Amino acid sequence: MAPEEWGRFVQSYVGRPEDFETWAWKKLKIPEEMLYIAPYEPPPRQVNGDFLCTYHGCFNVYKNKQGRENHFNVAHLGFRAQCPDCNTVLMNQSSLPRHKRDNCTMRKKAQ
Ligand SMILES: [Zn+2]
Ligand SMILES: [Zn+2]
Repeated sequence: MAPEEWGRFVQSYVGRPEDFETWAWKKLKIPEEMLYIAPYEPPPRQVNGDFLCTYHGCFNVYKNKQGRENHFNVAHLGFRAQCPDCNTVLMNQSSLPRHKRDNCTMRKKAQ
């Protein structure tokens, strides 16, 4: 799949990050047997108060759910930008200025 194609594909997903993989397998019509080629043990969702990324083979750990979700969106769903002030994840770099002006919660607090 070409990168732009993959970008469109992941952006067409509207469910929870946790369900993305299942959705993608189904959507791409990858035969179920393929899932068993790479051994996969889902990591426990929370260990010692830390949040683990649930993506295949990714072992990043976060202190909070939001951090993990932001990482998931950017690293695994292909979202392109993140607000440095409030960590909101945006679909692309060009929506960042507008977010900062209109929607950024950190900015609203500062005013
Ligand atoms: Zn990850
Ligand atoms: Zn922001």
